Amino acid sequence: MRTLVYGLGESGTSAARALLSHGTPPAEVLAADAGDSERHREAAAELSGIGIEARLGAGPGVLGGIRRVVASPGVPPRDAVLWAAAQRGIPVVSEVALGLELLGPGVRVAAFTGTNGKTTAVDMLRSVLEASGVPHAVAGNSWAALTGRLSEAREAGNLVLEVSSFQLHYLREPGFEVAALLNVRPDHLNWHASFEEYAEDKLRVFEGQRAGDLALVSATDTVGRSAVRSPPAEAVAVGEGGTGLWSGALYLRGRRLLEVEELSFAGAHNHENALFAAAAAERLGAGDEGIREGLRAYRTMPHRMEVVADRDRVLYVDDSKATNPAAVAAALAGLDRPVVLILGGSEKDTDFSEVAAQLGRCRAVVCQGEAGPRICEYLSGREAGVPVSLSGHLEEAVETARGLARPGDAVLLSPGCASFDQFSGYSERGRAFGALAAGSGRAVGARGSAGA
Ligand code: ADP
Repeated sequence: MRTLVYGLGESGTSAARALLSHGTPPAEVLAADAGDSERHREAAAELSGIGIEARLGAGPGVLGGIRRVVASPGVPPRDAVLWAAAQRGIPVVSEVALGLELLGPGVRVAAFTGTNGKTTAVDMLRSVLEASGVPHAVAGNSWAALTGRLSEAREAGNLVLEVSSFQLHYLREPGFEVAALLNVRPDHLNWHASFEEYAEDKLRVFEGQRAGDLALVSATDTVGRSAVRSPPAEAVAVGEGGTGLWSGALYLRGRRLLEVEELSFAGAHNHENALFAAAAAERLGAGDEGIREGLRAYRTMPHRMEVVADRDRVLYVDDSKATNPAAVAAALAGLDRPVVLILGGSEKDTDFSEVAAQLGRCRAVVCQGEAGPRICEYLSGREAGVPVSLSGHLEEAVETARGLARPGDAVLLSPGCASFDQFSGYSERGRAFGALAAGSGRAVGARGSAGA
């Protein structure tokens, strides 16, 4: 069966390698990408070195003789090759689907998806499992590609998997022992055909679950709730029925775990992430003490509500990872001081009404980048009494924000947009913000976490 690995990023090259190491002859694997950049040529050369033919600048002609396609998450279904494959009835699977197939039975998998918080919740779970001495491997989406972590996962016996909607789109009946859906909010509508399709893809995380498995959703998320109304798996809704945050403490199945004051991270959204991690960890064998220890030791990752400078009594907070309006709303809700908010980046045509509803928390809003003019026009029309201005790019926006902020305020970069209009990714954008924010002022040495 000749397999086409389509998309030569990290997960594509990893999938091609995994096929070979699981006994597929090199001649039965074809690798291809529609692009033809330096990076693609390097990947093609690497694969040629292990006997796999790689074609760049590929179109639907590449499908001749192909019986199955392994698609990389960066490639949308409307791509010419994937579209042609669908028309011809050639099965398309994601790299994660291939990884699960090659993984085989005997490994317990806890899979996390959601519009926001996947990486944080997975990282919290990793911290808790480490503190509990539960062996585990971590893979998927923002971690190493699953097809490159198969032996670690088999050896550990437990796999924590972060899955994006792109990876779920081409995954059927995964049957995860723990499936967690953190939230579903408008995002990535340049990849998915509609919000409904996006939500449908997210819900695939629960497909194939059986009695005895665990389905985790948020009590406040309507999409998640709809999924677990009559599940075969045990359903836990974080925020009700014994698992939630009440009177400043986290509870798991009615047991008091700890006070939020014991944690180094703030924000109701992060406390919810922690509860998802705790519930999943318990299912994988962690006890309450390990859960407590892992959460107490947890420090948030860079570019997620990270305090990067404290200058003239103004805190500069880097939330560059907030690439959709729901994440911006969570950031605003988590700060206990007036905010000069910097929004904007590359255009995804997202609806900013969720941010508009939180404008009351802002002293001012500065819009910038490719999507800046549209967001500025939209928010100015809300007449919330908050000044909204437009800057061309991030550097100008930070200068404007500095002029608007008063002592005791926060300047928050929580763009609600991807970064590719000006940067190679959210990390580069966050670092640029940190450097601009620090200027000649005092950069905060140890990383801090912003929050009420
Ligand atoms: P993902 O991996 O899903 O992109 P991250 O953990 O990297 O999520 O966080 C992305 C952004 O979303 C950050 O700005 C973070 O502060 C915010 N965030 C994290 N968890 C949540 C949540 N449960 N709800 C809303 N926003 C969140």
